[in-house]
Amino acid sequence: MQIRLIDLKKQYESIKHEADPKVLEILSSSNYIMGQNVKEFEKEICEYLGVKYAVSVGNGTDALVIALKALGIGQGDEVITSPYTFFATAESISSVGATPIFVDVRLDTFNIDPSKIEEKITPRTKAIMPVHIFGQPADMDEIIEIAKKYNLYVIEDACQAIGAEYKNKKVGSLGDIACFSFFPTKNLGCAGDGGMITTNNDKLATICKALRTHGSGIDGEKAYNLLNNVKETASQNDNSDNTVYNPLKYYNYIVGHNSRLDEIQAAILRIKLRELDRWNNLRKEHAEYYNESLKDTSFVTPFKDINIKHVYHMYILQSERRAEVVSYLKDNGIATGIYYPVPLHLQKAYTELGYKLGDLPNAEYLSERTFAIPVYPELTEEQRQYIVNVLRKFE
Ligand SMILES: *Cc1c(COP(=O)(O)O)cnc(C)c1O
Repeated sequence: MQIRLIDLKKQYESIKHEADPKVLEILSSSNYIMGQNVKEFEKEICEYLGVKYAVSVGNGTDALVIALKALGIGQGDEVITSPYTFFATAESISSVGATPIFVDVRLDTFNIDPSKIEEKITPRTKAIMPVHIFGQPADMDEIIEIAKKYNLYVIEDACQAIGAEYKNKKVGSLGDIACFSFFPTKNLGCAGDGGMITTNNDKLATICKALRTHGSGIDGEKAYNLLNNVKETASQNDNSDNTVYNPLKYYNYIVGHNSRLDEIQAAILRIKLRELDRWNNLRKEHAEYYNESLKDTSFVTPFKDINIKHVYHMYILQSERRAEVVSYLKDNGIATGIYYPVPLHLQKAYTELGYKLGDLPNAEYLSERTFAIPVYPELTEEQRQYIVNVLRKFE
């Protein structure tokens, strides 16, 4: 039996009957960027997450960069984050000119350890960026409390955790601003790149909308007014069209980006959003099956914190003999993934930050032991049974 780590083909086949006609309809509509589907999708995300604003962008990395810029974070500032995450988390901080400050993770949840944050706060610290890693929400109450005490912003990197809940509230609605990715392999993935910024803050939403389209048009003017304390003029109204056909796009008020979601991606995401809870529940069922079936083995199964809903973007096992297990699984047709082989503080790209081996021992320990096994929603009973049987035989 051959089992992929993620099977996007199966997912496509399950929505093909809805997606194909929709995509063709958009092709012949000639309305490709930021049209009706994008508007509706943003509205649907607001309803789904329980937030006031959702601003779609080109990808999850851009979502983080634009969110940081909207908060005014840049040169000379520090942002506290996790070293045990995808590179884009810290990269976004560096790309606005700020410095990522890594705080070690909890060994059980793999999320940033709130008890180690305060000692890293300096007068330059502007924000904390927790990552809900592998679909498990970070300790948001503790993080928000520290942020309040030191007057810092909280930016959620929720790229791996759409649908996850912390104390019955969806991630993406907990901090000052949050970022999502719709990269094809994420729990809600499109057929290309896509991302979203969510917030309840009017001002931040306006600035994000301006930043995604070159700071132009009505959004640009509004953002300019907000940033410069200029009173709004009567010419501004919310109903105007801000698509490719808008002549106001040649009036630029702030320096921004080109980072937009297109109609085809939005249409696909709208179809998939309706399935998201069901898919996340299937991931959870697979995870529970693995937890139960592997509990008396040497593999360390994932810990689930209380008061949270984990959406298992990845199902992570730990083994002292990782290289051996991974190659044994491969020989038996089972794909695995290693998330993450190098913690960010030890990445070559961050040599200049001056970290050394031993600085963040938990992240380093995990990076040598963890591996992901298939947990995608379409995994069959037979497949997951096979995976368990193969793993149990390794013992
Ligand atoms: C995927 C991911 C991103 C970046 O998203 P892209 O859409 O690939 O740019 C950022 N942070 C985390 C934790 C991610 O998993």
